[in-house]
Amino acid sequence: MDEKLISVISNNNSQSLYAENILVKTLLDRNFKVKTEYDPNAELLITIGGDGAFLRTMHKYNFPEMPVIGINTGHLGFFQELLPQNIEDFVDKYEKKEYMIDEIKHIEAEICTLTDCLQVIGINEIVIKGDKSATIHLLITLDNDILENFSGDGILVSTTAGSTAYNYSLGGSIVHPKINILQITPVSPINTTAYRSFTSSVILPESTVIGLKPEYTYENSILIVTDGMEYSYKEIESISIRYSEVGTKLLRMNNYNFWYKAKEKFL
Ligand code: NAP
Repeated sequence: MDEKLISVISNNNSQSLYAENILVKTLLDRNFKVKTEYDPNAELLITIGGDGAFLRTMHKYNFPEMPVIGINTGHLGFFQELLPQNIEDFVDKYEKKEYMIDEIKHIEAEICTLTDCLQVIGINEIVIKGDKSATIHLLITLDNDILENFSGDGILVSTTAGSTAYNYSLGGSIVHPKINILQITPVSPINTTAYRSFTSSVILPESTVIGLKPEYTYENSILIVTDGMEYSYKEIESISIRYSEVGTKLLRMNNYNFWYKAKEKFL
């Protein structure tokens, strides 16, 4: 690790680039070294933009190990803790080490096709859905025990951190960051005399392995969407989703309060 080196990654909107200029100047004035690109040796990574910018940066650089903090520039900014007007105050507090590190865990899906197995990681969620708006039929198991035969648009498996994202829009529960759980939230489940699926979220211990087996007829028509990034796989035989070893260390200021943030963003 290169002490006092800070990587700053901004999206391209004008507010973000303006915030980046102020941040870089403030950091250089305080004798930090700054790179406006990713450097794996940096002691801190700062992303500028919305949650989308944060998620894309984490995926692009393969879930960096150093702590990360975000500056929100005109978006929802649930992950992004700072505002551009707080930059000076943030640098003061960072120098005095007045912060804490909050590690969020990610989930991973192992997707096995007829030929091989591949892995994807999700910070918020992994969604399994039908391609081209087709109904999807999935056998869902929990640690190898059958939960249900799901039929509907798809299912979303959310992390604790992702509970406030797409999961929340689908009627899933908001989860306090101190509780690590997996949440399976159905996307338009079908409930008729022909098909039966749970209509609410199912909340599971973090050690659970969720197994998903597409019905044979539908194995060619499945999309996997992780944090908004879409992957299409052919001939999927099985998918298993669990918590990953990979996580992200979020730098939080000492006055961070989850419920204050949730109320501010949603109520
Ligand atoms: P996006 O436009 O980057 O994000 C959609 C919205 O979700 C944005 O307002 C984003 O905040 C917000 N968001 C992201 N992570 C969040 C979190 N942990 N808690 C609360 N809000 C959060 O969309 P995308 O590129 O397709 O996908 C990125 C994420 O967006 C996905 O992981 C998914 O959770 C979410 N999404 C939500 C819906 C929905 O609610 N119907 C649909 C698709 C995707 P910013 O404005 O700060 O970027």
